[in-house]
Amino acid sequence: MNLSFSALNRPYLIQSLQKQPLDLLVIGGGITGAGIALDARVRGMHVGLLEMQDFAAGTSSRSTKLVHGGLRYLKQLELGLVAEVGRERAVVYENAPHVTTPVPMLLPVVKGGSLRKWEAALALTVYDFLAGVKSGERRRMLSAAQTLAAEPLLDADQVTGGALYYEYRTDDARLTLEAIKEAVSRGALALNYAKVTGFLYEKDRINGVTFEDQLTDRTYQLRAHQVVNAAGPWVDRVDSLSTPQAEEKLFHTKGVHLVVDQQKFPLKQAVYFDVPGGRMIFAIPRAGKTYIGTTDTSYEGSLENPSLTPADRDYLLDSVNSMFPSVKLLPGDVESYWVGLRPLIRQKGKGPGEISRKDEIFQYPSGLVTIAGGKLTGYRKMAERVVDLIAGRLQQSSSQSFPACTTHRIPLSGGQVGGAASFPEFIRQKTRSGVLSGISEVEARRLPALYGSNIDRLFSFIPEDSSETAIFGIPPVLLAQLRYSLEDEMVTSPADFFVRRTGALYFNIDFVRTWEEPVWVFMNHYFGWSHDQAQQYRLQLRQLLSSSPIGRGVQLR
Ligand code: FAD
Repeated sequence: MNLSFSALNRPYLIQSLQKQPLDLLVIGGGITGAGIALDARVRGMHVGLLEMQDFAAGTSSRSTKLVHGGLRYLKQLELGLVAEVGRERAVVYENAPHVTTPVPMLLPVVKGGSLRKWEAALALTVYDFLAGVKSGERRRMLSAAQTLAAEPLLDADQVTGGALYYEYRTDDARLTLEAIKEAVSRGALALNYAKVTGFLYEKDRINGVTFEDQLTDRTYQLRAHQVVNAAGPWVDRVDSLSTPQAEEKLFHTKGVHLVVDQQKFPLKQAVYFDVPGGRMIFAIPRAGKTYIGTTDTSYEGSLENPSLTPADRDYLLDSVNSMFPSVKLLPGDVESYWVGLRPLIRQKGKGPGEISRKDEIFQYPSGLVTIAGGKLTGYRKMAERVVDLIAGRLQQSSSQSFPACTTHRIPLSGGQVGGAASFPEFIRQKTRSGVLSGISEVEARRLPALYGSNIDRLFSFIPEDSSETAIFGIPPVLLAQLRYSLEDEMVTSPADFFVRRTGALYFNIDFVRTWEEPVWVFMNHYFGWSHDQAQQYRLQLRQLLSSSPIGRGVQLR
């Protein structure tokens, strides 16, 4: 049975997961697990994926949202990593141009900064070479006057020059989701709000898991020949379910991003700049807002609810105010924020900013395979390494054979637009069809850029008459986005929709405030929630929107 990727189908999905042993079960629905599930499914494995929260609710919706070439790793002389993520960036862009946009990044050179002009030129030349940067996107050195023309908010007394290079902006949660949707459209079974709580064994070897449906509290078992732990910041916890004495692999560091309105910080141009103490941070304009980040501090608190402290907030605001002296941001200017945890592999004697971002695979006598570390950008290569290992094991145990990895040629869901170079023309065509179907030109341009080749499916949800819009008081385009997310993106709650399917909680908080009630009413109607469930989801959303103790930031959990 080919089920739509809707939470209404959870009971059938759970049955399908239990029907026959999986070749591979992946624990964790962040980008790492998503990439592994897709690769394994493309190679023909029978794959399941369980995620205890919403897909991408861990670190994979809390990053700087860049598919990096890895410039900062050059400083640590991690040349192999720069080369790999540089190549991977091009692959991600080709396969998912709707969630990856090249943006010129300005690197100002300032008096007393961490780089002098010749050092910036040398570093970027090496970076262009190692990362295989294409000719139109190679570094361009700028004079002080050109740097200030590119970003007039910089301090004219401090700037001595600059450089422009390219970073690729992404929506991390949607990138993760598009990888999961692609895996699912090819037959993988992926379930959110399903927490792995224990392992099943045959002769000391893991051959399945128990999991708890977080929406119903029911517990289930499923069998799998191979299990991969891709639980990001939680990998040690998952490992300890099978090996309580396992040595902790991870060192968590916390990274905070703040969002302010463009009117408060009217940045023309994305900037990667020095802050006191030798670190660098980004300020990136996006959808009428500017986001600023990140911090990098060691962390030992709750993994589910990492919080923003006044010190985190002030560090970022002070950094902006010192590099852009006319801006003068205040705590009250912070509209929203997100806090992520880096799952870094422990390295004795190294501080938060020095620890390698490399990934590593661990294998236990129980058969469990754990992957930890890494970057959003390198997810496909990480997946390839894990799935190669799993394919080898399956071949040994059952003589099944699986082909080599081909995901470099596989567009993610929404990425069937004829390649990245054809994407602008694709948007033009779809904008025309959107306008013909009666939506405004602005919306008709925005939607294909967001949904890529899934746009026709999204357009099919635009109501033909105004009755549904009138009943729920939701405008046609929002209604289409909501229905698409419910039918094809496994949304279970208003929070899933506003945080990870649309990013509105971060970048358009007024929109959330305006539409939270009608969206909740629509979902209540769609799912037929019990009174308690309905109240719980309403409360969850209200909590997300409620003022935080510092500034007007929102609580993210
Ligand atoms: P996660 O996304 O955390 O996924 C793990 C999932 O496992 C979670 O969703 C969790 O709920 C689930 N899980 C845990 N336990 C269980 C269980 N028992 N059962 C079921 N599910 C479970 N990388 C870049 O390439 N570019 C960037 O710009 C960038 N910026 C960053 C900025 C910050 C502040 C941080 C923190 C990281 C950044 N990174 C960046 C790194 C990147 O975000 C991470 O490497 C990546 O998102 C990790 O993905 P993951 O899937 O391993 O972990």
